Amino acid sequence: MSKSKSKNGEIFLIIPKQIVTADSKNRILKGIAVEITDGKISSFVSKEEIQKEKYDDVYDAKNLTLIPGFIQTHVHLSQTLFRGLADDLPLLEWLRLKIFPFENAHNENSLRVTAQLSINELLMGGTTTFLDMGTLRYGDVVLSEMVSSGIRGFSGKCLIDLNDLYPDFKSTTQEEINDIKNLAQSFHNSADGRVRYSFSPRFVLSCSEELLKETKEIMKDYPGSIYHTHSSESVDEINEVRKRFHKENIEYFNSIGVLDDHTVLAHCVHTSDNERKMLKDRNTRISHCPSANLKLGSGIAPIPQYLKEGISVTLGADGAPCNNNLSIFNEMRLASLIQKPIHGTKVLDAQTIFRMATIEGAKALHIHDEVGSIEVGKKADLVLIDLDSYSNSYSDSDETIYSDIVFSSTTENVKSVMVDGRWLIKGRESLVYDQKEIISKGGEELSKLLKRI
Ligand SMILES: [Zn+2]
Repeated sequence: MSKSKSKNGEIFLIIPKQIVTADSKNRILKGIAVEITDGKISSFVSKEEIQKEKYDDVYDAKNLTLIPGFIQTHVHLSQTLFRGLADDLPLLEWLRLKIFPFENAHNENSLRVTAQLSINELLMGGTTTFLDMGTLRYGDVVLSEMVSSGIRGFSGKCLIDLNDLYPDFKSTTQEEINDIKNLAQSFHNSADGRVRYSFSPRFVLSCSEELLKETKEIMKDYPGSIYHTHSSESVDEINEVRKRFHKENIEYFNSIGVLDDHTVLAHCVHTSDNERKMLKDRNTRISHCPSANLKLGSGIAPIPQYLKEGISVTLGADGAPCNNNLSIFNEMRLASLIQKPIHGTKVLDAQTIFRMATIEGAKALHIHDEVGSIEVGKKADLVLIDLDSYSNSYSDSDETIYSDIVFSSTTENVKSVMVDGRWLIKGRESLVYDQKEIISKGGEELSKLLKRI
C-alpha cells in the first residue's frame, strides 16, 4: 500500500456510514461524504451529488464511522520501552527505583525506538495529536521522529535541575535553559506547524524556582507553545511539597507566576478549594490520567467538580509503565466509570467524555481552530472506526454512538487514521512503521539499556 497524501492540489473523498463531528452542536451526519483538499476538509458532499471521477482518491467506507482524531494531553514517549517493568509501586518509589534510572540510561537509539513504538501505538488507537513530557537528554530525537512520522503533537526536553530521588538524573539550570532555547528554535512550528514545542519541567520537586520561572519567560518567544508539568498527583508528593515550600503545589506554582491558559498540569488528583479557584482564575488546563492515577494508587481526581467549576479537563494515558498502554479508549471508559460510585451514574456521560478526548483536547492546546472536530476549513485529522463489531451496540440509533465509542470500543475498532490529510494507518495497516521491525528493535535496545544502568 503506498502512502497517499492530500497535498499539492490533490483532492480526496471519504464516504463513511456516518460522521460524528464533535462540532458545537454535536452534529451526527448521515449520507454525507467528506472532501479533503491540500490536507484540509474542503466540503461536505451529499451522497447523491458525488462525482467520483473528480477525485484523486475515493475511500468508500460505508460500514465505518468517521470521527475526529483523538487528542491526548499527557503522554511519555520515552517510557514506552519500560512497559511492564515498574508495576505495583507508588509514585515516588516508582520514579526513584525504576523510571528515573531507566530514563537516565537512554541513548539516542533507545530513545528513537521508544518514540517509534509510542507513535505507532497512539496512531493504531486513533490518537492523532499528543502532548509529550519528553526526557532529560536527546530532546531532538523525539521531535525529529514526530516530524518524520506524520503525527501531530507537542514535545520538548523534560527539565530536571534538582533530583533528591535519583541524583544522577539531572542537569544544571543553565544547561537546561540553553538546551530549551536551541530545541524550541529548531522545532517549534516545524512540519508546517504540525510539530510544536512544549516546555516541560518534570514536577515541582525536580525543578529550581529559577528554572520554572525562566522557562515561562522563554516561552513568551514561542507563541503557541505549551508549559507542561505534573502537579498534585500523590499524597506523598504533596506532603513533600508542603514541607519544602509551606504551600500547596498549585499555590506554589501560582506564587511564582507559571499558571496561565497555556499551562497544562497533569493529574491534579489532590487539590484544595483555594487551588481550584487559582486553576479557574488562571484558566489553567488539567490533563486527567485515570489509569495512571489508579495503578500508582494516587487516587481519584475530582473531575466532576472541576467541570462544574468551569475548569478545563482533558485526557491522557500518561506513560506505558504506569498504565500499561496508551489507549485513549481505556482512559475514556475509566474517566467515566470511576466517578459514578462517588458522584452518581449521571456524571460524565459518554458524549462529555468523547468531547474531552477530541475538541476539548484541541482547546486545551489552543489548536481548536485547526483540529478537534470535523468541520469545513479544519485540518483533516480523521479516524474511521467500526462501530458495528460483535462487541458494539446492535442499534443503529444516534443515541448509542457515543456510548459505542466510549464504553464498548477498544483500539481494535479503529481501522484507518489520517493526519494532516495523509493516511498513516489504512485498514489497520501502518503506512509509517514496519511494526515487527520496531518491536524487535525495541527488545534489542531495551536489553542494551538495562545493561547501562
Ligand atoms: Zn506523567
